[in-house]
Amino acid sequence: MSEGDRSLIEFICTTLPSRVIFGQGTSVRLPEEVERLGLQRALVLATPSRKPDAERLSAHLGTRSAGVLATAVMHTPVNVTEAALAVVENLGADGLVAIGGGSTTGLSKAIALRTGLPQIIIPTTYAGSEMTPIVGETKDGGKTTKRSPRILPEVVIYDVERTLSLPVPLSVASGMNAIAHAVEALYARDRNPVATLMAEEGVRALGQALPRIAAHPVDRDVRAEALYGAWLCGVCLGSVSMAIHHKLCHVIGGLFNLPHAQTHTVILPHATAYNAPAAPDAMVRLARALDAPDAALGLYEFAGRLGCPRALRDLGMPEAGIDQAVTLSLRNAPWNPVPIEAEAVRELLRRAWRGDVPASAFQS
Ligand code: NAD
Repeated sequence: MSEGDRSLIEFICTTLPSRVIFGQGTSVRLPEEVERLGLQRALVLATPSRKPDAERLSAHLGTRSAGVLATAVMHTPVNVTEAALAVVENLGADGLVAIGGGSTTGLSKAIALRTGLPQIIIPTTYAGSEMTPIVGETKDGGKTTKRSPRILPEVVIYDVERTLSLPVPLSVASGMNAIAHAVEALYARDRNPVATLMAEEGVRALGQALPRIAAHPVDRDVRAEALYGAWLCGVCLGSVSMAIHHKLCHVIGGLFNLPHAQTHTVILPHATAYNAPAAPDAMVRLARALDAPDAALGLYEFAGRLGCPRALRDLGMPEAGIDQAVTLSLRNAPWNPVPIEAEAVRELLRRAWRGDVPASAFQS
């Protein structure tokens, strides 16, 4: 425990129950995990573009597969879930297998929330959703978050092989999405020493792995390091509360249908700068994990070095949308180390929209 963070002397730590299998080629263990859960007819979920992966897994499951449903899309729209529920019922599925990123995991969670079906997730991005009891669902342009033990997947099979095909731009943005979970865990009001250790180690692992993935996307050892980091960051997301960064990404992602991981990548340095004055211990840990002199500037430069987008305008957000985003961000605002105030948030979003250097870089 560092000297600077006295609040870690008293804490509550809730550990979530989930079984994690990690390694290379581990998805061959799917049939035994399905059997362990006593499933007779598991429905295999995917996005449309990853349908072939789901079909191969389904074939591997043989008679214990109920079939494939490849309709998952970003931000878990409720109408997609409702259509999927009809398929679950028609096929008599008694469990779910999701292979893919946060979108596929989201569909699985949304079905599990409504049916109680057990879930086995094989994550293929670094989003971390598989480790959380949370699902964000969209309807009519609004995103609502639900939290329930029913949402937490029973089994997660991390198979490094399954991440090799993730394109470099998506890999690095997804890695930044994972880092965002760790950043907010470091200054969360309900942070605890275990989450803090995982957060710093998660940022370190991804900080080392992502540049190497950009150079050698099929290096299995580097992909393993990134997936390990993503797991740790996902545990952080599932165990402590998130703050302004996740709130802003949630609001503007839902409002303007922006790509999830890239939105996190753009906002993160600015949210970090926003909170820096009130979270010195988190900043020290982050800077150390990134091997950078300043946490917010380090994140901004890291994203630039990885070739990630750094401006919301490049993701398609209209400048005229900033005011609406500010209004929605202040509604049900989460606890944040620095109070969430309209003018300060507007300035944060203006800078993020233009792709400016984060504000704390000017203060230091
Ligand atoms: P994604 O799941 O939408 O995947 C992005 C694209 O990459 C998709 O087209 C997908 O088919 C493709 N893809 C995935 N893995 C691939 C691979 N290995 N090779 C090639 N292509 C691959 O993106 P994401 O960033 O993982 O997830 C975003 C969604 O997850 C959002 O809806 C977000 O709200 C949600 N999310 C939820 C939580 C939570 O705890 N509830 C946490 C993080 C993200």
